[in-house]
Amino acid sequence: MAGKLTLQELERAVKTGKVDTVLAVQVDMQGRLMGKRFQAEFFLESAVTETHSCNYLLSTDMEMETVPGYANASWSAGYGDYAMRPDLNTLRLIPWLEGTALVLCDLYDHKTHEEVKISPRAILKRQIARLADMGFTPMMATELEFFVFKNSFEEAHEQGYRHLDLISPYNEDYHIFQTTKEEDLMRAIRTGLNGADIPIENTKGEASAGQAEVNVRYADALSMADRHAIVKNGVKEIAWAKQRAVTFMAKWDNASSGSSSHIHQSLWTPDGKSAFFDPEGQYGMSQTMRHYMAGLLHHAPAMTLFLAPYVNSYKRFVEGTFAPTKTVWSLDNRTAGFRVCGDASSAVRVECRIGGSDLNPYLALASQIAAGIDGIVNKRELPEEFEGDAYQGEGVPEIPTNISDATAELDKSAMYRDAFGNEVVEHYLHAARWEQLEYNRRVTDWDLARGFERA
Ligand code: ADP
Repeated sequence: MAGKLTLQELERAVKTGKVDTVLAVQVDMQGRLMGKRFQAEFFLESAVTETHSCNYLLSTDMEMETVPGYANASWSAGYGDYAMRPDLNTLRLIPWLEGTALVLCDLYDHKTHEEVKISPRAILKRQIARLADMGFTPMMATELEFFVFKNSFEEAHEQGYRHLDLISPYNEDYHIFQTTKEEDLMRAIRTGLNGADIPIENTKGEASAGQAEVNVRYADALSMADRHAIVKNGVKEIAWAKQRAVTFMAKWDNASSGSSSHIHQSLWTPDGKSAFFDPEGQYGMSQTMRHYMAGLLHHAPAMTLFLAPYVNSYKRFVEGTFAPTKTVWSLDNRTAGFRVCGDASSAVRVECRIGGSDLNPYLALASQIAAGIDGIVNKRELPEEFEGDAYQGEGVPEIPTNISDATAELDKSAMYRDAFGNEVVEHYLHAARWEQLEYNRRVTDWDLARGFERA
């Protein structure tokens, strides 16, 4: 695949002057790339084995606030360092940045030399290892939707993110003519990412004015989460270079649809076959798939925090917008929380539609796998399929409607405490409670418009 680099290839590229900069990055709690831009020679001399970052990168909020109350990092503990160790399997060229390569790093504790348990990549790796012990590899794909603007990020900021011009004036779902007008950006995104060892299947217009989607080829769960994090950062960088702003907020505007990150998933056996496919089963679903999906449904309320991590995320769950409100499953039904796709074929899989484009892919995929494992281990029975418009479904389980409810669901989940470890669950509960607190003490535009004159 174009863009993938071995260490020897990087060394050669540095010698010939093709690469002069290496980005050594980790992901933070928000799933963002954080790290340093190394002079390539120094990276090869030193950082290739280890570099460092402040441990607060796993305890800040969206705005880099030093949030009190975390066990891993605090003022009283002096906000020390974590060791960042490059995972050389992730080394790749970044074609849209001149002379630049990128590598993802895992985080280690300086004193214990153990991997930092609360780090998103470690959380996902642990769940993948549990599945490997059961003889399965999770194959996943996370779609990403986002909005594109005629304005630049700088203009958007100066304007207080108001009165922005969307790239298209109308709903452009599947439109070719409208997306042709956006091709200068979207082609650069597809070819750029493809050249960064991220196989892109397609981009398309989505179901709101200015909304786009990028689809990446499915891969093992860790590679997919890595791809997702790099895609999101890459789309922002490529758009920025073209004086366009994009947003991955789950819901940026009252009148527009939200942006999703649907998660397609199947389990494979070591011989490269899907363990989800049984030609004799309903829709070609194996017993393993039924149990896995039953686990997803059973734990959906508790997993929601990992699919919708902010106050804003919950504003996306609106009836009739293609974002789900009910945790039911259904064949090829976009109103359900869980949609079975690729029926009666070896591509049979489940698509979790709950997640927003603001999710952290490592936490989201780990939350799916842990729930699926629980379904398989406990041989959970798949409930009856829901048929019809799930928005109107009565007496069926609902997705938590706000971050406080989702936090309470995770808090009481013995399964996640067991699968992720208490330390991990407490860490992310704390992040969610802080998010709610921060919101509670803010006066919003809605408060003002509603109450200023009329209260
Ligand atoms: P949709 O109907 O949601 O548009 P697509 O056919 O575009 O579905 O596929 C969505 C995603 O599913 C793609 O990223 C694709 O790589 C992924 N996918 C295809 N087969 C599998 C599979 N067996 N397991 C997991 N993901 C898969």
